[in-house]
Amino acid sequence: MTKESYQLYSFEQDVKQTPTPGKSRCYFIVSEENGRCESILSDLSDNLVTYSDTEVQTLFDDLQLSPDKIIFQSLLGEWENNIYSVILIKSQDIANHRWVGLRKKLGVVSDQLFMIAGRALQLCQWHVDHRFCGRCGSATSSDQEDSALVCVSCQLRFYPRISPCMIVAVVRDDKILLAHHRRSNRLVYSTLAGFVEAGETVEDCVVREVYEEVGIRISQPRYLLSEPWPFPSQLMLGFIAEYQSGEIVLDEKEILDAQWFRYDALPETPSNASVAGQLIRFFVEQQKNKGAAR
Ligand SMILES: [Zn+2]
Repeated sequence: MTKESYQLYSFEQDVKQTPTPGKSRCYFIVSEENGRCESILSDLSDNLVTYSDTEVQTLFDDLQLSPDKIIFQSLLGEWENNIYSVILIKSQDIANHRWVGLRKKLGVVSDQLFMIAGRALQLCQWHVDHRFCGRCGSATSSDQEDSALVCVSCQLRFYPRISPCMIVAVVRDDKILLAHHRRSNRLVYSTLAGFVEAGETVEDCVVREVYEEVGIRISQPRYLLSEPWPFPSQLMLGFIAEYQSGEIVLDEKEILDAQWFRYDALPETPSNASVAGQLIRFFVEQQKNKGAAR
C-alpha cells in the first residue's frame, strides 16, 4: 500500500536543487502565534490557498511587511506543475484573508497537497522550537551546508524532530479490534496507536501497545504503509496483526470501549484519508475478497 508522492526537496537538495524550469512558484504562508505554527493563510473561501510570487509581493506591500519580518522561508517540494515553498510570519489580521488550520483539510484537499502543507508546518515549527541550543542555551543559526540549525557556540545540530508512532489493525478471522479512544470527542471506533519508545523496534512497540491498551496478545505484525502526521511531528507507521490470545481488558486511562467488529458490521470509523481509515478499509477489502473466493 503506497500513495503517489510528491517530489520532496530534501535538506541536501535544498541548497543545491535547481527547481524544474517552467514550473510555477507557490507559497504557503504560515503564521507563528505563541510559538505554534499551525495555521496557513487562506482567502475567505477557507480553502487551502497558495500564493504566487506576485501575490506574495502584493500581500507584503499591503502589510508593509519587509523581508526581515519573515521568520523563516524554505523550499518544500514539487507536485504536478508547481514548486512549493513556505514563508513563516508572525500571526496578524490580514484584510480579506483568514488563517485556517491544516487538520480540517485532511481528506478535503489531495493527499499530496496535504503532505506538502504538513511539511511546511513541521519545518516552521522546527525552526521556531530551535532558536536556542538545548545543551548550552546559545542561539542557533542556519547551516548553509545542509540547512540544519546549528548552535553558534557548541555546534550541536538540530534537524526537524520526527516522532515514530505505530498504528495497528488487530484482526481475528473476519473481525477487527476497534477502540473508542478517550481523546476522541466523537463516537468513532478506531485502530490502536502508540509512540515508539527509545530503544524499541516498531514491531515490539506494536505488541507492547496492544497489550497495554486492551490486554490482547498479537502475532505477526506486518507493516503496510506510513503517513506523516504533522500535528506536530508524528510519522504514523501502519501495521496489521493477528490475534493470538487473551480477552479484552481496557486501559481505562486511554480507552473507553473496545470490541471485535465483523468486517460487514462496523461502527463509525475514521475517514479513508487517515492511516486508521486505510488500515480498516484494507481489512474489509481482504475479507470481501475472501468471501468472493469462497
Ligand atoms: Zn550549544
